[in-house]
Amino acid sequence: MTHTASAPTLVWLRDDLRLADNPALAAARAEERPLVLLYVLDDETPGLRRLGAAARWWLGRSLATLATDIERIGGRLLLRRGPADRVIRDLVAKAGIARVHWNRRYEAGAIELDRRLKAELTDAGVDVTSHSGTLLHEPWTLRTGSGRPYRVFTPFYRAAASLGSRAPFAAPRELLPGPDLPSDALDDWELEPSGPDWAGGLRATWQPGEAGARAALHAFLDGGIHGYADGHDRPDGEHTSRLSPFLRFGNLSPAQALAAVTHAAEAGEAQGRDVEKFRSELYWREFSYHLLFHFPGLATANYNDRFDGFGWREDAGFERAWRRGLTGYPIVDAGMRQLWQTGWMHNRVRMVVASFLVKHGLIDWRRGEAWFWDTLVDADPANNPASWQWVAGSGADAAPYFRIFNPVLQGEKFDPDGAYVRHFVPELAKLPSEVIHQPWRAKPDMLRRAGVELGATYPRPIVEHAAARERALDAYRRSGGN
Ligand code: FAD
Repeated sequence: MTHTASAPTLVWLRDDLRLADNPALAAARAEERPLVLLYVLDDETPGLRRLGAAARWWLGRSLATLATDIERIGGRLLLRRGPADRVIRDLVAKAGIARVHWNRRYEAGAIELDRRLKAELTDAGVDVTSHSGTLLHEPWTLRTGSGRPYRVFTPFYRAAASLGSRAPFAAPRELLPGPDLPSDALDDWELEPSGPDWAGGLRATWQPGEAGARAALHAFLDGGIHGYADGHDRPDGEHTSRLSPFLRFGNLSPAQALAAVTHAAEAGEAQGRDVEKFRSELYWREFSYHLLFHFPGLATANYNDRFDGFGWREDAGFERAWRRGLTGYPIVDAGMRQLWQTGWMHNRVRMVVASFLVKHGLIDWRRGEAWFWDTLVDADPANNPASWQWVAGSGADAAPYFRIFNPVLQGEKFDPDGAYVRHFVPELAKLPSEVIHQPWRAKPDMLRRAGVELGATYPRPIVEHAAARERALDAYRRSGGN
């Protein structure tokens, strides 16, 4: 097919819902053709993981703000629902599209879809270009000295960070509009919950979209980053950036985040230690994607197949108590309620609650991963399974299985005054700090004064820590461990 110079260019937006630092959009604009900007809601292509409920909420809000941002500079966001290959083939044919750009994704199903579509469109005479916009480094560009993918974070980090990272692209100021094509109405996609509307806490907590990402980044640079190295493990503080959902949906790119903190360090507005620690966290995200790319079954299969015969238990009651934040361990319950109320949980507490499900409950990590996938606004195809496997002990560079978090000690260490627990488990708010992480140790008059009746207003521990620990170690030994 031959195309005229005015044949439009298509930008297929996916996990890159932003105008600034969007390599696919920047390359498309450089062609100076009319632009069609498209998002496809694809719940149908086999092998693509359907977004969970909280992530769908984030997606809907991000698309609404992106559409407004695009209109402000003269363009229009086109929304279509269906299997992406069919939607795009139709659009390309009907609108006479000459070129297509997208930023890459890294899940096996998405890679396969992109590869297939690229081949079909190329055969039809359409020029397709993919770009790197979601990661600092493409996973296939990093290999160990022996030519293998990395399995250990520290050498991965050393190698990746030594490559530096590119400067972010500025946001476009205007867009050359494409042809007037019919679009779905965002409301018809029903990405937001109704009956019941459980998203009130999400709305109160987050401002999805590019402006929200900029605001969160600036708030972090003004506040949280100061003391991040020492404070990022404390759920009772405000030290972490809360950028994860913005990075997940590409409202912000990692190159933008990295450039901003590097600039702050160079300008003397942030301490080197804090910036270095934050930078390494961004590279944990890169590491997860490296693992996902080289081990496509990350969300479904044990990375370490030694866990394939592990004796996981079925225990619906335990799982239900965990999901609802009613295990009787305050730090676990606070975390699970933070997740339910806000769609997010502090990293330290994610580790504690995940360990509790997998080790105290002996429940398969995939069950927890699936719950997080449904309830996190930052539910990420790489970070979520990589982190669950890390906690479970089955992952790459994982915490050893036999290291079993004691939820009381974790609470006392990282939430020493109990401020985090008091906030999310208000029925315990009046307990003194010395018992807030183990209310069953409180004297009867202490409980009475705090209005706590164990087994009635707050549950007794669902398992006893020492016994659960022994059971977990025993299960590990029986499955072939030492
Ligand atoms: P900050 O401390 O400000 O870190 C900045 C960014 O670095 C984060 O936004 C994130 O993109 C990245 N990052 C930080 N810690 C990690 C980490 N341990 N692994 C990978 N990337 C990291 N993160 C997700 O983005 N999505 C998930 O679905 C997810 N599931 C998790 C499940 C479990 C069981 C655990 C233990 C961790 C999970 N994480 C996940 C990683 C981590 O908890 C979150 O990225 C972090 O809490 C986000 O908060 P923040 O933006 O304030 O982090």
